[in-house]
Amino acid sequence: MPKQLLFIPGPVTVAEPVLAATGQPMIDHRGPEFKALLAQLSQRMKPVFGTTRAEVLVLGASGTGGLEAAVTSVFGPGDRLLACPIGVFGERLIAIARTWGCAVDVVETTWGHALGPAALRARLDAATGDERYTGVLLTHNETSTGTQNDMAAVAAALRGHDAYTIVDSVSGLGASEFRMDEWGFDVVVTASQKVLAAPPGLAIVAVAPRVWERMDANPAPRFYFDLRKARDFAALGQTPWTPPVSIVFGFDAALDAYEREGAQSVYDRHERYARAIRACAAALGLEVYSSEGAHSLTVVAIRLPNGVDGDAVRRTLREQRGVVIGGGQGRLKGELIRIGTMGDLTQTDVLGALGALEIALLEHGHQLSVGTGVQAALKVFLAAEEPAAV
Ligand SMILES: *Cc1c(COP(=O)(O)O)cnc(C)c1O
Repeated sequence: MPKQLLFIPGPVTVAEPVLAATGQPMIDHRGPEFKALLAQLSQRMKPVFGTTRAEVLVLGASGTGGLEAAVTSVFGPGDRLLACPIGVFGERLIAIARTWGCAVDVVETTWGHALGPAALRARLDAATGDERYTGVLLTHNETSTGTQNDMAAVAAALRGHDAYTIVDSVSGLGASEFRMDEWGFDVVVTASQKVLAAPPGLAIVAVAPRVWERMDANPAPRFYFDLRKARDFAALGQTPWTPPVSIVFGFDAALDAYEREGAQSVYDRHERYARAIRACAAALGLEVYSSEGAHSLTVVAIRLPNGVDGDAVRRTLREQRGVVIGGGQGRLKGELIRIGTMGDLTQTDVLGALGALEIALLEHGHQLSVGTGVQAALKVFLAAEEPAAV
């Protein structure tokens, strides 16, 4: 296959040492080596979640499996939940809960905007007596719209309400500081193939102490994704079912890379790449879909002008330039392109991809002055290196 630069928001480009780690010989998943590996992974993920108290569980599943495990372990049919979707992935979380028989009410947010904490607070305050919500479903970073919620502000809005919170941070966790304990979230879900830059195959789920009692009280039947089973086996250094051992090796190597780079540098890298891509879009006369103050660090969604077909631009980029980017999902199909910042990507990769994007846009009829987008991105990178230079 010809060389490709992968700029989709997951799965992301995986570094060579991580890929190499996945090729190690198989081991006994109930033996001492796996036990040590699993215990370390769980320990090393705690600072990423911002927790010392939560149990961190590793499941053989994509991110959606982790979300289903969270919803079905904590809630049962008939439970009243308040969902706060800000895009397609938030709607998927609602679909999981409704499929499970939960009664889900929705705080509506205009796509491209972050959840308004006051709107959430008002809904919680208004639901009294039998109307009270058992749970709240939240998205940290909405990949379909390139929009991020302010989770500290959301946490403040939830204060004083005892509803159980489930947070989809599949495309957010690791790219900025997350403080699960301080903010008081109950279950936080992420996955291996996003910020942490390992291959897909693992969901990582952090569960706060107060949730275990709730899970025991939840009469709904469940089996494979019962988080209590995952907890009981984790205590033995195992997973209940055969895990994707190769991906666990890769995830371990990916955490090595994360720790070597340092969390703050990882945060800065995502922030800078996202800012450079937004600067490029602005310079090319394109509209960034997310609103000011709500921009995602891990994916930039860009609205294309009328008459320029996003899917056609993506096809040209892939086929002619070897650059793979995301498109619009759900009702945004064809309207957006989405460029991820996650994974083993250099500034040079970003500049190359943006240059290729300029050419593809020109070919599809968007008038632009060649090089202006790349220049805007380059200025962001130079300014970050040498404050006096630009
Ligand atoms: C990627 C992603 C998921 C999970 O997707 P899977 O394909 O199941 O791994 C869930 N939520 C968000 C916000 C995502 O970006």
